[in-house]
Amino acid sequence: RAKNEGRNQFSFYTPEMQTQYARKLTLANALRHALERNELQLHYQPQLSINTGHIIGVEALLRWYHPELGMVSPAEFIPIAESNGLIIAIGEWVLRTAAQQLKYWIVSGFKPMVMAVNLSAVQFRQSNLPELITSILDEVELPHQYFELELTEAVAMDNPLTAIVVMDKLHDQGIRMAIDDFGTGYSSLSYLKKFNVYKLKIDQSFVRDIIVDLEDRAIVTAIINLASNLGLQTIAEGVETAEQLDFLRSQGCNEAQGYYFSKPLTAAQFEDYARAMK
Ligand code: C2E
Ligand code: MG
Ligand code: MG
Ligand code: MG
Repeated sequence: RAKNEGRNQFSFYTPEMQTQYARKLTLANALRHALERNELQLHYQPQLSINTGHIIGVEALLRWYHPELGMVSPAEFIPIAESNGLIIAIGEWVLRTAAQQLKYWIVSGFKPMVMAVNLSAVQFRQSNLPELITSILDEVELPHQYFELELTEAVAMDNPLTAIVVMDKLHDQGIRMAIDDFGTGYSSLSYLKKFNVYKLKIDQSFVRDIIVDLEDRAIVTAIINLASNLGLQTIAEGVETAEQLDFLRSQGCNEAQGYYFSKPLTAAQFEDYARAMK
């Protein structure tokens, strides 16, 4: 072992680290071809009004099915796409595909709703992002008010001055912003006040134990009150039970999303879900 360490400069890598590194390399190489090989898909998770129970939107969630590796989670491949720049092309594909899908649903007679699309940190730093989004929406002929962009609190707060400028531009173009994973990102309230946002998405880590954990209950209640006092909407993510929904309703949360209503669905599955809701 010692002899081996002497020879191998990289012996501080444990076997697990080598396996992880090898997987990252494999994924990074395979991801280069994922778009052209049609391995990417969007799934759609309904967002419901807590008051009316109606579908008011869907969140587009990216899926990657690799023929040999199987389903790879966005939590695993998006950081890779961010580090090698592929996220720019992938992100643009997501924006266009989501816009086209919603346009198709509206034209086919589904009730108007909002399409929420996740933005990565790298996309958010692209200086032409507002123009790119406008050009995609115009190309698809989707009115801007049907589009909502989700940006995590951590990314927004990482560079708040840029965030203010970009959010103002998007707002001027009639595009809504939601702060995703709210409560996990060390928000500075003085910046939150300056962000031109429409909605706070309460992170699912607070929703999970809302029934049993008094601190999580207090945090969720505080976020809902804060949002309400700032004139913002709230949506709870990761709602899995009727009890969680009841608590959120009692605190005045506006919207909910989670397995209690539906998992993320293929476009065809979502159409069945929306029809069955009527
Ligand atoms: P997110 O935007 O916070 O999305 C919520 C995640 O929670 C999704 O995981 C969703 O499937 C999952 N989820 C929804 N309801 C429930 C529930 O009731 N219980 C539990 N346990 N989980 C629930 P998913 O699809 O694996 O996505 C993970 C993350 O990957 C997303 O977190 C988002 O940050 C990122 N992501 C997904 N699609 C995109 C995309 O198109 N672009 C970018 N930049 N990021 C994306
Ligand atoms: Mg999201
Ligand atoms: Mg989230
Ligand atoms: Mg998340």
